[in-house]
Amino acid sequence: MSTASSQPAPSQAAKDESDLLDLLKHHFGHEQFRPMQGDVVRDVIAGRDTVVIMPTGGGKSLCYQLPALVRDGVTLVVSPLIALMQDQVQALTNNGIAATFLNSTLDERTADQREQAAIAGEFDLVYMAPERLFSGRGRRLIEQLNLSLIAVDEAHCISEWGHDFRPEYRQLGELRHRYGNVPMVALTATATPRVGDDIVAQLALHKPAVYRAGFERANLFYEARPKQRVFEQVMRYLNDNPDHEGIIYCLSRTGCESMADKLKGKGVAALPYHAGLDADVREQNQHAFVYGEARVICATIAFGMGIDKPDVRFVIHTDLPRHMEGYYQETGRAGRDGSPADCILFFSHGDRHKLERFIEEKPSAAEREHAMWQLDRMVQFAYTTGCRMVPLLDYFGEIHEGRCDHCDNCRFPPKQSDATEDARKLLSTVARTEQRYGLTHVINVLCGDENDRILQREHHRLSVFGIGNDRTKAHWRRVAETLVHNGQLAQTNDDYRTTYLTEASMPVLRGEASVTITEPRVLKKSTTRKARTLTVEFDESQIDPKLFEALRQLRMQLANEQGLAPYMVFGNASLKHMAVAKPTTKQAFAAIVGVGDFKLDKYGDVFIEAIAAHEAD
Ligand code: ADP
Repeated sequence: MSTASSQPAPSQAAKDESDLLDLLKHHFGHEQFRPMQGDVVRDVIAGRDTVVIMPTGGGKSLCYQLPALVRDGVTLVVSPLIALMQDQVQALTNNGIAATFLNSTLDERTADQREQAAIAGEFDLVYMAPERLFSGRGRRLIEQLNLSLIAVDEAHCISEWGHDFRPEYRQLGELRHRYGNVPMVALTATATPRVGDDIVAQLALHKPAVYRAGFERANLFYEARPKQRVFEQVMRYLNDNPDHEGIIYCLSRTGCESMADKLKGKGVAALPYHAGLDADVREQNQHAFVYGEARVICATIAFGMGIDKPDVRFVIHTDLPRHMEGYYQETGRAGRDGSPADCILFFSHGDRHKLERFIEEKPSAAEREHAMWQLDRMVQFAYTTGCRMVPLLDYFGEIHEGRCDHCDNCRFPPKQSDATEDARKLLSTVARTEQRYGLTHVINVLCGDENDRILQREHHRLSVFGIGNDRTKAHWRRVAETLVHNGQLAQTNDDYRTTYLTEASMPVLRGEASVTITEPRVLKKSTTRKARTLTVEFDESQIDPKLFEALRQLRMQLANEQGLAPYMVFGNASLKHMAVAKPTTKQAFAAIVGVGDFKLDKYGDVFIEAIAAHEAD
């Protein structure tokens, strides 16, 4: 698979740059293309088969939506997810673009009407799921359409090598054979080179231009914290960032429920989402989150595929994920709008242990080995004291130079301190208690607790009793976690988690090896304030908070009246820009990010009125 050069497309349909930028502003309200978008759009308009591999939030949809407006005829969009289809069509319609979807949720009459309108050429875009496409009815419809372009979204679903293979996607190759002259564009966020090749082969793409964007998402701030007092830390984050909405991923269903309940108890609008809930409850909760009625969704990994919410400001993992691929995808749901967002991971050795036990239950040795390897990579990411982009991107075969400026370790280099002496104290205590106890007991002995268990076993008579009472228990846990991580201390794999010494403990005990620990960081407010990918620069410190709040409420009210998600009215970046620029004429309003001509007409007056009223106060 070769990567496209960025030569201009040799076609009569090609537009020059300023025409395309006009269309971009007019229809979508954007001032500039995101990286690669311009090149892709030009190739697609020119009728070249194209593959687009771009991370979530890269702006893939525009790569076929804009060409759909330029090319004569209708663009067929194949998409696997019904909810996503509806949201996309709604957002397009609210931009004044003629789009529709056909799927099993429609009644007969509506489907009929839409099909007739599509045949009459009334739509620029028609979205369909592959099942529908290859039904008798679907085939008859396609025959009658004046197809100008076929866009295959989530194209990795076509490959058995991908993580989400869908057999019905396999039939898509047929389209190429039947409609050989219609160009195709295939889009996905996750394609290894093997999956990429498979996409090209299965769709029988003809000398495609292949665009592969890097996986690094510069607007996401990655941080990992030791798993201590998680709920308190989550509450602090929510209080420090009152306008942030986001997702909290938990490993178990009960974890989701209890997190949602505790948050509700503190007055945070939070809802659970997991496979144990009825399908309609799940859908309601997802809808409430996307439509801005719930601030937080506490979810298992069952959540996320079908959501397109661009203004998710944080993704928190309260438990260590099983692998980087899932972790990258889940955190990738933050900040699709390009504005800063936070990805916070809580980790502990306890989590690692729990996941290892799941892995041990896998039937085949090969599966266990692979899962262990994946888990090790995840653990490396959590424990690294270097740039987090290195292990994250390495997983996807990208080499990062290791200075990203958007992870905790780069922005706030961790303080390392020598803990050799403390490590010896801890290991001696494990030895003196005959390697028969868990960490809690060992640390209690070190700190000189006179609890029943210690007294019964006469551990208060040991020479190590109380030798560590000058440090906190949290400090001792850190020392122990580091030793376990280094292999200088081990724990049994059963419920008792009994600690024992390893060969690598000996040099530490003998004073021949040193041990360094990482001191905990005290992170204050959300640290991501720089918007690097916003196409229009404005100073966020100039936002008038009262006006911003008033605009948010107005947006919510309009969205409710029209059955839209708030982001479909305007994204947060638009509201912030308004709360800085305070436009009071239509001309000034048109210059706000995200304001295209259709939205200018539809919403301009009412927003201008609200801004003027606020200014007059
Ligand atoms: P993807 O499908 O790659 O995850 P989307 O197509 O959903 O990404 O786009 C993510 C967000 O970026 C959307 O909110 C979209 O409006 C916005 N976006 C896309 N292109 C641009 C652009 N050129 N300028 C500003 N915002 C853009």
